[in-house]
Amino acid sequence: TVGVITLDQNQQMCVATSTSGLFMKRPGRVGDSPVSGSGFYADSQIGAATATGLGEDLMKGCISYEIVSRMGRGMSPQQAAESAVYDLESQLIARYGRAGDLSVVCMNNRGEYGAATTIDNFSFSVATAAQTPAVFLTTREG
Ligand code: ASP
Repeated sequence: TVGVITLDQNQQMCVATSTSGLFMKRPGRVGDSPVSGSGFYADSQIGAATATGLGEDLMKGCISYEIVSRMGRGMSPQQAAESAVYDLESQLIARYGRAGDLSVVCMNNRGEYGAATTIDNFSFSVATAAQTPAVFLTTREG
């Protein structure tokens, strides 16, 4: 999955995702990436978030909406990302006895960003241009 969050000079935010889904997925499977609130969510009054990992797990927490909601309640992007991911991981362990494959990035409408993951090989990049616009990108193999 590739997820991108953008912020423009007028504090308007956008988020987008693109994914091939999971390797060997069943025909008709819909993962988190096209589902608002799970694979992506943006509210220009607050911020935006996007996720990658196992869609079936990410959807159980509506993780992107959850992160934006936490930022709206005053958390920094990093606090929101970490707390949402680790809370969902705890729920998955309690209910299913296993940790999830969960990775997220987020940014608020001031250009502050955060990221959290439960795996080892997660990477992301941040690009900023003069005069503000910030672009935020997450990528993952697989
Ligand atoms: N989240 C995607 C899905 O479950 C897969 C991925 O992030 O690689 O469809």
